[in-house]
Formats: sequence, structure tokens, C-alpha cells
Amino acid sequence: SKNVYLFHEGRADMKALLGGKGANLAEMTNIGLPVPPGMTITTEVCKEYYRLGRKFPANLMQEVKEKLLYIEEKAGKKFGDPENPLLVSVRSGAMFSMPGMMDTILNLGLNEQTVSGLAKATDNPRFAYDAYRRFIQMFSDVVLEIPKHEFEYILARQKEEQGVSYDQQLSAESLRQIINDYKDLVQEKEDRPFPEDPMEQLTMAIEAVFRSWNNDRAIIYRNLHKISHDLGTAVNVQSMVFGNMGNDCGTGVAFTRNPSTGENILYGEYLTNAQGEDVVAGIRTPQPIAKLQGEMPAVFEQFKKTAYLLERHYRNMQDLEFTIERSKLYMLQTRNGKRTAQAAVKVAYDMVQEGLISKEEALMMVEPGQLDQLLHRQIDAKVELNVLAKGLPASPGAASGSVVFDADEAERLGKAGQKVLLVRTETTPDDIHGIIAAQGILTSRGGMTSHAAVVARGMGKPCVCGCEAMKIDYDRKIFAVGNTIVNEGDLISIDGATGRVILGSVTLKDPELSKEYLTILEWGDQVKRLGIRANADTPEDARKAREFGAEGIGLTRTEHMFMGQDRLPYVQKMILAETLEDRQEALSHLLPMQEGDFYGILKEMQGYPVCIRLLDPPLHEFLPSLEELLVETTELKITRNDPARLEEKEMLLKKVRSLHEFNPMLGHRGCRLGITFPEVYEMQIRAIFNASARLVKEGCKVLPEVEIPLTIDISEMKFFKERIDIIAKEVMAEYGVSFHYVSGTMIELPRAALLADELAEVAEFFSFGTNDLTQTTLGFSRDDAEGKFLTHYLEAKILKENPFITLDRKGVGKLMKQAVEGGRKTRPGLLIGICGEHGGEPSSVEFCHMISLDFVSCSPYRVPIARLAAAQAAI
Ligand code: ADP
Ligand code: MG
Ligand code: MG
Repeated sequence: SKNVYLFHEGRADMKALLGGKGANLAEMTNIGLPVPPGMTITTEVCKEYYRLGRKFPANLMQEVKEKLLYIEEKAGKKFGDPENPLLVSVRSGAMFSMPGMMDTILNLGLNEQTVSGLAKATDNPRFAYDAYRRFIQMFSDVVLEIPKHEFEYILARQKEEQGVSYDQQLSAESLRQIINDYKDLVQEKEDRPFPEDPMEQLTMAIEAVFRSWNNDRAIIYRNLHKISHDLGTAVNVQSMVFGNMGNDCGTGVAFTRNPSTGENILYGEYLTNAQGEDVVAGIRTPQPIAKLQGEMPAVFEQFKKTAYLLERHYRNMQDLEFTIERSKLYMLQTRNGKRTAQAAVKVAYDMVQEGLISKEEALMMVEPGQLDQLLHRQIDAKVELNVLAKGLPASPGAASGSVVFDADEAERLGKAGQKVLLVRTETTPDDIHGIIAAQGILTSRGGMTSHAAVVARGMGKPCVCGCEAMKIDYDRKIFAVGNTIVNEGDLISIDGATGRVILGSVTLKDPELSKEYLTILEWGDQVKRLGIRANADTPEDARKAREFGAEGIGLTRTEHMFMGQDRLPYVQKMILAETLEDRQEALSHLLPMQEGDFYGILKEMQGYPVCIRLLDPPLHEFLPSLEELLVETTELKITRNDPARLEEKEMLLKKVRSLHEFNPMLGHRGCRLGITFPEVYEMQIRAIFNASARLVKEGCKVLPEVEIPLTIDISEMKFFKERIDIIAKEVMAEYGVSFHYVSGTMIELPRAALLADELAEVAEFFSFGTNDLTQTTLGFSRDDAEGKFLTHYLEAKILKENPFITLDRKGVGKLMKQAVEGGRKTRPGLLIGICGEHGGEPSSVEFCHMISLDFVSCSPYRVPIARLAAAQAAI
């Protein structure tokens, strides 16, 4: 089969085979854009390379050579030609873009002969040596794996000797000297000279790109973004163009719109007389793209047109890489641009208004998980701040944390639960683990498209970059802004929306939701089929839920209401009661309080359904811990000054001991409490109906749903249903009103799922409690699994995802499907929802749509995410 494609043989939809970069280079070539000619070695070859135990398929290099002939012809230069050499870049490119995670080598094909040829052909020795120097440095890093800093040291020493501060100030002679020193270094490290044969260089470089698929940072990145490790990378070999031949040359990156705000203006940065990596590496702070208009008006016009054309072609905001060689524009990359949530929403909305895309396309363009970012609190503009400096607003959101200068340290402290801000001159892909651990990123160099900025935006992390006033001294672990010194460990804040760097922490306020955001969610509501409810235990939560667009409450947990300081004494009395009367007495105090709780929530929801779950957790959760009581009783025994209190505590201790369970998760909890102490559930049921009746009297609409947790059998349901109906009748008679109510059950144990057809004879609704259902189906106790063996299960790929985050479709999902079918066979149209944490996780929402649930319920802040995910599932 074919291992290598010339650019014109590919297409944009061949990303799996050619990688994103290769497929888009192909597409651009075929649209007729100025792309330097090249070829793509497929991802299949990479997979084959690993299958063969890190060996090339036999005919690979033969094919590469053949394709190279075509490229030579197109470029009018020959690879290895001492007169006018063709140089190539060797670029990685996987199916999903992983910016900067894998390796690229530029200027390949240079050696002692070709460098002279290049110097002569371009009449520019300085340029030729600069290209050679860069090549040796990149090749040694990526292919030979000699530590970078050894080369940087040589470069820095030469600059110092020459008394210059920028690379481009070095003369041809100095560069020649650097090359000699580089080569000596390679000889010393490798015990062989730097490879001179271009074909050998190319072979080694291709292999290095394959290897880079499995470097540490690429693996971390893929884990973070849930990209499969099996995809492999393609390799692009492309004829070089040069942005570093003089002042009519340059290189840059741009977005067709602002990736931070979404504003519709060409947005980007460039450097004159520079080569590729210089812009992203943050070595010199680049110029805003608008300046190009003044410097090279014709090129700017052409670039603008190209950008617009690509955006229309891909129907999405593009992220472009380009190089200008002697006033001629070349396109080197395009891809759908990564963007903040704010930008995603605005771009999607604007593109619909501009007639570029449909509403459905717009809905698919926003990642539901991203919306989270918009709901988070921001710096209150009205509060005075101690602003220390200002950088570029690279990724919005505010973050506070202690200053840390090193990625490893950030990771260490972050793992220990500390909030840190990673402060660097610039970041490199090697810092990825520190970026993950930090609250936010602050850099002193580099622009909006620098590595730090791109990665932070991808993760939705606040970032301020290019804060040049900040002078970092890594050795002393401080940074200075003017006379102010900030030490490692000091608390600072950044505001990624404005670029401000602030001393100390900051006050945050609720975000304002944009018109674009609200409109997109409304479009979503028009196409989605799933209902979206929220889990809310208080009227405040219920209000938030309504604000975010919830159409009901899917789960009100009543246990939180038992925890309040005014209630706990009565709850404890109820637990300690030895007789029914004593228990009734305690419950009579709790009844009005519960009634008040339900009144507040039902009122807030204005007739939207409110599903209230009766008491669920084991009773010991309402009592002090054994340890606590042992300490207290021992102290009281020693001091002997309060015998009454001692007696009380000893009683409590006895009760706690008697309630002790070996496995509380599977112990005396859920409706088992209601079976053994029916009066507790009866109190709760009465409280729900009293509240409902009062509201109806006041002219409010109510729709209470009484939910029985942890059932396993229809007999349990019958037991409660009988009581529910009796109490409802009593309350309605007492208040002289009537209202509609339903009763149903959670499905959270495998037996309930299996017997769903029977349960549905009595239950009028089901709600999947997938937290418990996951625990009991897998036999994993969540708290014991996470942080212990689950990590190993994920690393060993026994499980693909954490089943407590992403619903386990294969196992838990199978039970759910069966329960849905069973339930609806008995009771057609049975209302079924989900209220576990999965209800707000996009992939799980999709699954709920697929198995025809009626609603998902999640925490109020995740309601917008669920709304969008439900819309996407329906498209
Ligand atoms: P990454 O995936 O890290 O962005 P790329 O393969 O895109 O790596 O290469 C990084 C940069 O190197 C490009 O943005 C471009 O500026 C430069 N580059 C790559 N190939 C060429 C080429 N053929 N000619 C000139 N510059 C190139
Ligand atoms: Mg690139
Ligand atoms: Mg449960």
C-alpha cells in the first residue's frame, strides 16, 4: 500500500491517514494557495514502525526518494546539490493537533558543501550559516537527543564575546564559529561527526518524528485531552522557504479572528527576518499583524484575502502559519483554531449572522465542557487593585496563587493541594505538567500565540504573557518589576482578560452572560430532545438552576437539610430515641423545618417538577465520629467535673458503636431506613405535601415528585406508595386543596435495573442514580477506587475512562438500557431521568439521549453544558 502522499494527492478529510497538518497542507495546495511543495508519510507507517519493533517498512525510503524527485522539480532545486541545494523541513503532524508537543526540524539537507552552495546561491553567507546553525541545533536536540542547553550555552557565549544581545546581530564569522563549536560538541557527545549525508539526515529525522509520538510531553498531552495513544503521527517533508533572508522576509502566525474574545478581526503576530520557531518560542516578542500592513502592504493584502478564503472554505475560524520569503507569501499550516469559551461562543454566533454556517454547525462548534469557563467568577472591576504590571491578555479568567518558577515545583505543590501560579520567561512543551498543576500562567516574553498562551487557552486556564516589565531571576527565585521584588511563594493574581498582574489575592464576582451565549443555548433548546434539570438542595440552588435554564429539579437531597445547626440536635434525638414516642417527638420538631425547606424550593420552581428524595445516608453520618467521642469521653473521665455530660457522651458512644457498619455504602441506608423507621419517611412525605398544599392555597403551581432511594424490589415500592397516597389524601383534605404528585424510585442497584419491569408497576418515574449504580455494578467503592487502583486501571487501559466521570456505557449503560426497556414495557411513556454526576458530562448526556431518557439532572453550574450537550446529541 501507499506509504507516502504528495501534497496534491491528499485532502482535508484524510486527517486520520495524513495527520491534520498534512491533510490541510494538501487541501491548501489543491485550492491553489502558495504552499511549498512536499510529501506526507502516513500515520499507518508510524504504526507499522512501532509494530515492527521500531523499524521502517522495507520500501519506505525508496518511496520517499521517488517523491523527492517531484518536489525537486517543483522547487527547481536538488536535495544535496552543492550548487543550489533543496532544503526541507521534517514536520510531525497527528490526526489531532498537539501544538508543540512533537518535533519539527528545519533546514535539513545542509552540510559543509551545501551550506557554501546556499551562501553563494543566495549571495548571503550570514543567512546560510544561520540556517546551518539552527539545523544542527534542532537536529541534535530532536534526533541525537543532546540536551538543548549545551547548544544554547555555546550561542550565548558567542553573543557575549561579540557584545550583542540578539541572535540576528551575529556576523557570518561568528555563526561559522558557532557551527564549528556545535560540531565539536556533537563529536564529543556522539563519538562520531555530525551526519553530512542529506539522505542519512532525512532518514534519521523521519525516525525521530515517529519516536517523538511517544515522548513524555506528548503522552501527557494526549492523556489530558483524551486522545488515543494508538493513532500515530504522520511526517511531512516539505521544501523550505526562508523568512530569515533579510528585512523583506518574515514569519508569523495568525488567527482569522481573535481567539481570546472571538472578535472578527485578523489577529496574529509576526517577526521580520526570522525563522519559524522564533515566533512561538517567545525568544523575541513579535509585532502585531496589523503592522505588516505598513511594512509590506501587498503581502498583507494577500494574506488577509487568504485568511478569509480559508475561513470560508473550512467554515471555521482558522489558525494559520506563514512565511514571507523576499516579499513572497507562503502558507505553511492551517487548522481550526483553538479558542477560549468566550471566543467559541462569539465566533459561532457571528458566523451564523454572517451567513457562513447554519445554527446546527454553530452548535457543534462550541465544546460543551468549555462553557464552564464562562460561568466562573471574574475580577470585580469596581474593587481597587494593587496592579503591579501589565502583560498581554492571553487567556481569560482570574487566578491567584503562590509564585513558582519551575514546572516540577509547580507540579509538586499543586499535587499537595497548593494553589500556584507558574511564572516563567517563556514556557516550552516540557513545562506541560507544571501548567496543568498551576492555577494560571504568567510569562515575561512571547506573544498571544506563544506556547504558554496557546496551551493555557486550550485548557481554559488564565494566562498573561509577554509581561516585559517583569525581570525574572531564576537563580535567586525572584522577579522584579521596577523596585518591587516578588519572591517565590508570594501570593499574586493575574487577570487573563486584561493582562493585569496583581499583588495579593483578588475579589471575584459573578460573570455576565453575553447575548451570544444566551442565543446559542436557545438555539440548542430548539433542537434538543432531552429535558435538563438540576440537582438543588436549597432555594438558592434552585434559583441558580432556573437562571441557567433548568426545567425542573431532578434531585433534592434531604440529608443536607438535616445537617444544619438548628436541626442536628433533633436529628440526633431521633436517632437515639429508644421508643416510637420519643422518635415521634423528635420528628415533630423536624417536620416544620423540612416543610419550610420544601416550600422554598417548590416556590422557586414555579410549577416545574421537583423531585425530592427521601433520606438516603446511613444514620451514623449525623452523629459525631467514634474517634471524636472517644477523645471527649476520656477527657471527661480524667477531669471528672461534668458527670452528666459524660453520661450523655457515653450514650452517644454506645449508639455510634452500635451503628457501626463494616461497609456503610451497602449498609443500613436508603429506603431500608424507611422500612425500619417508617415514621421518618412519613414525616418527610408529610412535609412535602404540606408545603405543596400551602403553595397551592397561595395560588402557586407545584409538581412534587416523591422519590424512594435504593430500592431493590417492588414490595418496597408498594410499602411506600401506600403511605404516600394516604398522607397525600390526609393533607389535601386538611388544606382543602388538591394537586398532582407522583412517586417513583431511583434505580441505583443492579437488582432494581434488572427488575425494572416490576418496579414500574408501582413507580411512576425512574431516576438513575449512576454514582451508586456505577459503584455497585463495578463493585468499586468510589472513594477507595479513585486515587488508588483506578489510576492503574486507566494507565493499564483496563478501563478507558474513569467510570465515575464518564458513564460506563458498556456495563452500567447496558443495565440502564435494560431498565429503560423493562420500565416502559410495563408503563409506556414512563418518565425516566438520570441524576448522578454523569448528568452534566457531555459524553454521558449523549448516551442518555441515545437510550431515550426524558431528562438529565446535574449541578446548576453544569446546566448550560448539559443543554448544549443534549443539543449536540440531537444533531
Ligand atoms: P508545530 O506543529 O510545532 O507548529 P510545525 O511543523 O508547524 O511545528 O513547524 C513549526 C514552524 O516551523 C512553522 O510554523 C514554520 O514557521 C516553520 N516551518 C515548518 N516548515 C517550514 C518550511 N517548509 N519552510 C519554512 N518554515 C517552515
Ligand atoms: Mg505549526
Ligand atoms: Mg445513591
